[in-house]
Amino acid sequence: MFARRAFLAAAVPALLAGCSSQRWEAGAAKASESPSPSPSAEPSIEPSPTPSPTPSPTKPAPPASPPEVHDVNWYLRRAPSFGPPPAPEPVTVPDGEKTPWWSRVPTTQKVAFITIDDGGMTRTTDALQFIQRAKIPVTLFLNSPAAASYTSYFKAIKDTGASIQDHTVTHRKLKGQSYDFQRQEIEDCANRIQELFGERPYLFRPPFGDYDDITLKAARDCGMRVSFFWTQTVDNGKVFYQTTAEVIKPGDVMLMHFRPNLADDLLGALKAMKNSGLTPARLEDYIPRPSPA
Ligand SMILES: [Zn+2]
Repeated sequence: MFARRAFLAAAVPALLAGCSSQRWEAGAAKASESPSPSPSAEPSIEPSPTPSPTPSPTKPAPPASPPEVHDVNWYLRRAPSFGPPPAPEPVTVPDGEKTPWWSRVPTTQKVAFITIDDGGMTRTTDALQFIQRAKIPVTLFLNSPAAASYTSYFKAIKDTGASIQDHTVTHRKLKGQSYDFQRQEIEDCANRIQELFGERPYLFRPPFGDYDDITLKAARDCGMRVSFFWTQTVDNGKVFYQTTAEVIKPGDVMLMHFRPNLADDLLGALKAMKNSGLTPARLEDYIPRPSPA
């Protein structure tokens, strides 16, 4: 029951970097369930109910078509099916004064990982339901103000088995900043997420994937085990590879964001994994949470 090959979205000039400018405006989650399109109508184009044989040149142009809206069933029908992931073999994380800086998890098992960043821009119902119903393993790197403002949304994702990790408080660039500044950004985010969700982050992703040695030292001093970059980004449903070989490799870490098209991004990532012979897995199973001291 594999999805038919569907091109999800036009390739747009890609925002290849992680983490676009952060926006904190409050807003309701996209009402992606309403209006609910008829599945049987997908993707037909509705004819005008009252075609005019003699369109008047002075007639105002019709309003632009609304963005395509799908409910979660649309995504579930197109999602590839996967067998169970292999029994995870946790990797060794080096000790030391600094966290390691990883773009991918050093494993040869046929798995890859989905990470979703930020949280302050938008949070869609269709993406939440897609994660819940397809049981997509994800790891969230959240800014703590977003986590605090939309706790119930992220808690619902956490309840699927996701872990919530550290992405700083203010989403400012850390590279070049003082140790105290960098440590405070990481530590305050970790403390807040622990308060909100009951578990302390132990993985870190710096905003924009930008860091220096001080970042890795501060992260380790805050209890982080690994600081993460990524191997692919996904936006508007399209996977952007960093090499010409368009393949996901074992251990790769895919980056997407809480954006209006997150459900498309999830679908694009799952298809890319399937086409590469991989299964999505939980990052937390490969880098276990440290035991309480
Ligand atoms: Zn970010």
